Amino acid sequence: MRNKGDTVTKFFLILASIVVIQKNILGKEKENYKIIEEPFEMSILAIQNGRVFDEKWSIFQEAFKDTNVKLKSSISKNLTDEMQAFNLSISSGKLPDIISLAFPNKLESLGMEGGVIPLDDLIKEHAPNIKKFFEKYPRYKRDATAYDGKIYFIPAYYDWYKMRASQGLFIRKDWLDKLGLKVPNTMDEFYMVMKAFKEKDPNGNGIVDEIPYFERTSEYADKELIGLFGARRGFYVENGIVKYGPTQEIFKEVMPQIIKWYKEGLIDPEIFSRGFSARDYMLRNNLGGMTFDWFASTSSYNLDKELNEKIKGFNFSVIPPPEYKGKRYAPDSRATNLGGWSITSSAKNPIVAIKYMDYWFSEKGYELFNWGIKGDTFEKDKNGKKYFTDKIMKGDGTTPVKKLSDHGVQFRIGSIQDYEYEKAWGNSEANKWAEIYMENNYIVESMPTLKYTVQENKRIQKINSQLDMNIEEMSQKWILGSENFEKTYDLFLKKINDIGLKEALEINQKAYDRFMRK
Ligand code: CA
Repeated sequence: MRNKGDTVTKFFLILASIVVIQKNILGKEKENYKIIEEPFEMSILAIQNGRVFDEKWSIFQEAFKDTNVKLKSSISKNLTDEMQAFNLSISSGKLPDIISLAFPNKLESLGMEGGVIPLDDLIKEHAPNIKKFFEKYPRYKRDATAYDGKIYFIPAYYDWYKMRASQGLFIRKDWLDKLGLKVPNTMDEFYMVMKAFKEKDPNGNGIVDEIPYFERTSEYADKELIGLFGARRGFYVENGIVKYGPTQEIFKEVMPQIIKWYKEGLIDPEIFSRGFSARDYMLRNNLGGMTFDWFASTSSYNLDKELNEKIKGFNFSVIPPPEYKGKRYAPDSRATNLGGWSITSSAKNPIVAIKYMDYWFSEKGYELFNWGIKGDTFEKDKNGKKYFTDKIMKGDGTTPVKKLSDHGVQFRIGSIQDYEYEKAWGNSEANKWAEIYMENNYIVESMPTLKYTVQENKRIQKINSQLDMNIEEMSQKWILGSENFEKTYDLFLKKINDIGLKEALEINQKAYDRFMRK
């Protein structure tokens, strides 16, 4: 009898829960995500790739409809440099409610000094989606946790477990075919191909106007060029030891090659100044031969209708990195996150702010962030698989990713990227190559984002910014030919030692050991 009674109780419990679930589904639409009764506005400082946050982007308008919370940029649209805007905001003493930044250390350091608030208790009490996410992925939580054990920012996560490859080496395959050349298999052959692109008029206009190698991220141009040989520009770890790239033998060996390439006109003469639109310009004008860039967005030029009508046979394909001394190097990989956002100590209502951040980790927020608006930017097929609409995919002179970014999709906020999003607008060829790069270990892994004490952080940020400035300046001078590499390298070494390289190596070693012990 007892058993029967239990069964009856269970039955009613199940029935009750079905009713609750149904009620949730029915009552869901608006009520579920509403955070506050009256419309509430929060200011945000956010610049990504030179673009200031725009409240008009449709995904943020949709989020406002759901939550009743609206974000408004605290800065002028004319600003393009996020660190400059960040520093300006700090020094003015007028902090917005929320700051989005590419540099977790800056946010954590500001947090330990009281400029942004710890989020641990707020998450525990008001952010069930973020809480659940951190429980599911301890590594992701570790990446969000500062040296003092507190969380000061919600990261913008890549779909790191699914995809770590980020960029690949692209080449104008149709140019190779036209000149009767094979895919370069070694760095020597790579040089020969550049030379042929320069001299043999593959674009067929009778003018020597081809730019064999170009880059749109000028600050990484030299990093990626030397990186194809396995040399490094910053700190990295080898067998548990933290090292600094520019002091290594391989750097000394490789830099003269790049200098030579530049001198021979194989590298864009404006590589350090052309800027973010370089890729678009070089491809649409049938000028550029090779670049190292993101798989999906770069291969999407192959699907661009306008471009393909203009340049017959256009084929910009990924190739394996050419071999150098028996190894292949793809000098970039995805970190777990690309920065994130924090709530400042000036925030009018931190509870509303954390609830808003949590919204982006909800099912709806996750979908909105990756896919935009259902029925407008994306749809679902009968199996529930999402796809982007023609509005996004059909070419009219801009790439799908550019169109999506005009809706605010994937603008850097605390969130989780869905690799499926990238697959849906990239072509299958690009996805195949990203997977090949991963499987063949071409990817040069980056150091995890280390966590420092306030004191260490102050020192490391100061030393790093000077090291970065110095290597950036000298690399450019060497490559552009305004300083002689052989004659000034020792002086450069002395300078970086004076700046405090040894101390930075020690701090990083300690921080790395700590991170690995956790
Ligand atoms: Ca030409």
